[in-house]
Amino acid sequence: MKIIEIKAKEIFTKTKLGADWVVNPYAGCAHQCLYCYAKFIAKWKPVEYGKWGSWVEAKINGPELVKAKKVKGEVFMSSICDAYQPVEKELRLTRRILENMDKNVKLSILTKSDLVLRDIDIFKQFKNIEVGLTINSFTNKAKEFFEPAAIAVEKRIIALQKLKEQGISVYAFVSPIIPGLIHLSDIINKTKNLVNYYWFEFLNLRGAGKEFVEVLQKEFPESYKIVSNATLYQEFIERTTNLINSSHIKIRGIVKH
Ligand code: SF4
Repeated sequence: MKIIEIKAKEIFTKTKLGADWVVNPYAGCAHQCLYCYAKFIAKWKPVEYGKWGSWVEAKINGPELVKAKKVKGEVFMSSICDAYQPVEKELRLTRRILENMDKNVKLSILTKSDLVLRDIDIFKQFKNIEVGLTINSFTNKAKEFFEPAAIAVEKRIIALQKLKEQGISVYAFVSPIIPGLIHLSDIINKTKNLVNYYWFEFLNLRGAGKEFVEVLQKEFPESYKIVSNATLYQEFIERTTNLINSSHIKIRGIVKH
C-alpha cells in the first residue's frame, strides 16, 4: 500500500450528498471495493499511483485545517475514502480531525471498519452524531471479489452493537443491493434491534465501473442478467422496495440510481 502524505488546501468541501459539508481525511481507500463509486477520482491522480485500492493520500494537515475553519450544518465523513481504513490505525488523522472539529456540527460518519470503535470517546463529545456501517450479504466468493480488504459483515454488525451500547445513534447502510447477492430479510433480522434507522442503496452499475461489470458478468451471470436488463432490473427494484417498505423498520432513504 502506497501512502502519500499531502498538504490539502481545504478539508471541508461543499457537498450534495445529503449534508452541507464532506470531510475526507484521506483520498483513496485500501478497502479496495470493486464497485467503489469513488474510484473516478483516480483519473486526476498521477498514473504512478497505480490501481485504485493500492494507494492512499493522507491529508496530514487535516487537523490544522479543521481547527482553522468553523462551519455550520451537517458534516458527512467521508466520500472518497473510508476514514477508518487500516492506515488510520497508525496515522490517527481521522481521530485528530474529530478532536479539532467544532462539536456543535451535526456529524454523520459512514464506514466499513470496526476501527471506528476506537473513537467512541470523541463521538460522545458531539452534540449530534450518527455512525453508520455498510451492511450487505457478501460472503465467500462475492466478498473476495467485491470487498476483498474490508472486514466481514458480522464484525460490522458487532461494531453497530457496541456503538449502540455506548449510546451512539447508529444506522445500517445496506449497499450495494445486487439481485441474488443480497438477503434483505436476514440483514434486517440481524440488525433491527441495533440500529436507529436504515439507508438502502441499489447498485449503480455505471458508477461501479467496467471491471466490476466484467466480474459480475463472468462470476455472477444470474445477477448480471438482471442488472443489465432495464426491465428486469426495474422489476427487481420495485419488488425489493416493496419488501423494504413492509419490513416495519425505520427507513431514512432508499437510493435508486
Ligand atoms: S470502503 Fe468505500 S471508499 Fe473505500 S473502497 Fe470501499 S466503497 Fe470505496
